Amino acid sequence: MRFQFAEPFRIKMIENVKHTTKEERQVYLQEAQYNVFRVKAENCYIDCITDSGTSAMSSAQWSALMLGDESYAGAKSFYKMEASVQDVFGMPYVQPVHQGRAADNIMSKIYAKEGKYMIGNMHFDTIRGSAEVLGALPLDYVIDEGMDAASPAMPFKGNLDLNKMRKLIDEKGAENISCVVLTVTCNNNGGQPVSMKNIREVSELSKTYAIPLIIDAARLAENAYFIKTREEGYADVAIKDITREMFSYCETAIMSAKKDGLVNIGGLFVTRNLDVFHKANQLAILNEGFITYGGQAGRDLEALAVGLQEATEFDYLDYRIKQVQYLGDRLKERGVPIIEPTGGHGVYVDGRRFFPHIPQHEFPSQRLVVALYEEAGIRAVELGACAFGSKDKVTGEATWPALETMRIAISRRVYTNRHLDCIVEALAYIYDNRDSYKGMKLVFEGPITSLRHFTAGFELL
Ligand SMILES: *Cc1c(COP(=O)(O)O)cnc(C)c1O
Repeated sequence: MRFQFAEPFRIKMIENVKHTTKEERQVYLQEAQYNVFRVKAENCYIDCITDSGTSAMSSAQWSALMLGDESYAGAKSFYKMEASVQDVFGMPYVQPVHQGRAADNIMSKIYAKEGKYMIGNMHFDTIRGSAEVLGALPLDYVIDEGMDAASPAMPFKGNLDLNKMRKLIDEKGAENISCVVLTVTCNNNGGQPVSMKNIREVSELSKTYAIPLIIDAARLAENAYFIKTREEGYADVAIKDITREMFSYCETAIMSAKKDGLVNIGGLFVTRNLDVFHKANQLAILNEGFITYGGQAGRDLEALAVGLQEATEFDYLDYRIKQVQYLGDRLKERGVPIIEPTGGHGVYVDGRRFFPHIPQHEFPSQRLVVALYEEAGIRAVELGACAFGSKDKVTGEATWPALETMRIAISRRVYTNRHLDCIVEALAYIYDNRDSYKGMKLVFEGPITSLRHFTAGFELL
C-alpha cells in the first residue's frame, strides 16, 4: 500500500482567531470603504490577502532566533544565512536586504536603463514601479495562454514567450534591452510555474545578445516542485539540485524571503558577478544597512538560514502544493470558475466568469472580495480592474487588464483543510446566488494609479 501522509508537522502553538457576525462585518466594510486592505486583521476569520510574511515558523526556526548574533559587522548569523543561500542557489555572493522590494530596487538601479526595455514573463508590481521611476520600459511577455483566465490547464503557464522576445530584439535591437527578469513562480497570472526548459532557452537567447538574466525568486521552492512533478526528466532529481540548476542560468537572483524563505521579514540579492555584487553592497549600505546584515536583525538571518532549508524539503513542498490544490479541486467541484491549473501559493477565481453580468469597469473581482468577507469573514485580494487597471498616458482614459481575478492566497503551514472547506462553502454559496450581486464604483484612489488598490475606496451600486 502507498500510504497517503497528512501534514508533515504537528501543531505546538496556536493563535486564536475570532468569529464576527455578518452585521458587524457590514459595518467594518462600510468603515473601510469596501476595501479589505483597510479592515483590521483581527476582524478576519481566515486571512488570505497574501502569502507574504505570514508563514508559521517551525520550532527549529524559533530556537535559531535565540542564536542571533547582533554584531554590526561580520556576525555569525550572516555566515550561517550565507551558507544556506549558497547551498540552495548555488551562487557565491549574497547580500541580505530587509525585504524583497529593497532587492528589486537595487536590481533596478544596477540593471534597468532609461528608455530601454526590460523584458519579463510578468513583472511584480514593485519591480515595475522601481523600473518605471528610472524611466525604464518594463514589458510582460508571458505566453498567451498565461493571460487567458479561461484557457485550459497547462503545466507551465508562467513561461516567457521566446518569439515575442526574438521579435523585440529584431525590431528594437538588443542594445535597447537592458535585462530580462523571470519571475518564478509567476504571481500575477495565478502562481504559475516556469519550466526548466524555458529558463534554459531564455538564458541561451539572452546570452547570444549579452543581455543579463535575472530571476525574481520569491517562490523558488514551489517552482522547483512543479518542475520535479511536471517536467520530463526531473522526477528523480532532488529539489535543491533543481533550484541550483534554475539559478545556473541567471547572473543575478532577487528574493522576497517572506514567501519561500518561511520567515516573516527578509530579502536577498544574490549574484555570481563580482562587479554587480560590489555595486549591490554600496546600494545596500546606502539604503539597507551594512553588507552583513542589510536591514535584518541577526535573529532574522538565523530564521532565514533554517527556513530556506525547510522550504526545499520535498515532504514540506508536497504538503504545501497539495493543500492549495485541494482548495482548487473543491471549488471546481462546486462549479466556481478558477484559473487552471491551481497555482503554487493560491487559488485565483476568474471574476469575469464568476460575475458575467458585472462589467470590468464595475470591478467584478473586488465585488467578490467584498461578498466573501461579508458572508464569512474571509479576506482575499483583488488582482484585476482595480489593482492592474491604469490610465492611458496620452488620453488619460481608463484601461483595463486582461486578467480579472480574485486571489485566495494560502499562508504556509497556517491553516488546516477545514479552514479551506469554509472558504469553499462561502464561495459556493455566493456563486449559487451570483445573480443578486451588482457592481461597484471607485470613489477614491491615491495619486499613483498602480498602487491604488491598497488605499482605494468604493461604493456598492
Ligand atoms: C513579494 C514579492 C516581491 C516584493 O517583496 P516584498 O518582500 O513584499 O517587499 C517581489 N517579487 C515577487 C515575485 C514577490 O512575490
